[in-house]
Amino acid sequence: MSFTYNKKDACCRWCNRTENPHPDYNETIPTKIFISTKKREIELCLYCYEEEVKFSKRNTTNFNDVLDQRYEILNSIQLQRS
Ligand SMILES: [Zn+2]
Repeated sequence: MSFTYNKKDACCRWCNRTENPHPDYNETIPTKIFISTKKREIELCLYCYEEEVKFSKRNTTNFNDVLDQRYEILNSIQLQRS
């Protein structure tokens, strides 16, 4: 799994981080764009990706399906706020 480092506009879709949380690194957060089952392009940081992999394994759910589920939950939360 290769993540992109130092991508200028890197932004995690889940946690909204843009910078590496590690204090020794002054750089943008490593991210990778994943394509969900419903063909959504979802940019995730390394940390959120690992969490989702663990989650999908625990629930024996397909990783790409988890992306859609999470995306739809996040979207409905945002709609309720606005
Ligand atoms: Zn993240």
